[in-house]
Amino acid sequence: MTLFSTTGVRRWLKGMMLKHMHRMITCREFEEFVLRYLEGELSDRQRSVFEWHLRLCRECREYLAAYKRTLEITTAVMAPPNAPVLDEVPEDLIKAILEARKH
Ligand SMILES: [Zn+2]
Repeated sequence: MTLFSTTGVRRWLKGMMLKHMHRMITCREFEEFVLRYLEGELSDRQRSVFEWHLRLCRECREYLAAYKRTLEITTAVMAPPNAPVLDEVPEDLIKAILEARKH
């Protein structure tokens, strides 16, 4: 019955979507969209395609979450004018990013 497990169905569905829907983007394209998405630079259509992928793809949700965390930390460090230079990136952050990218 493993074929009919949720994961199996989702994976199959994702494969079908990527194959048959022109508007679907791949995980690779998703990564290229991330920064522009967070900066609000995507058109409405691009954003809906992006969010579709996000809903369908757990890997990319994790990737986005890790990416957001990186941005937040970077922003927090860069924002104050006299902020000390961060010469070490927190190790758990690196792990989170590597983990998200592994899939
Ligand atoms: Zn994906």
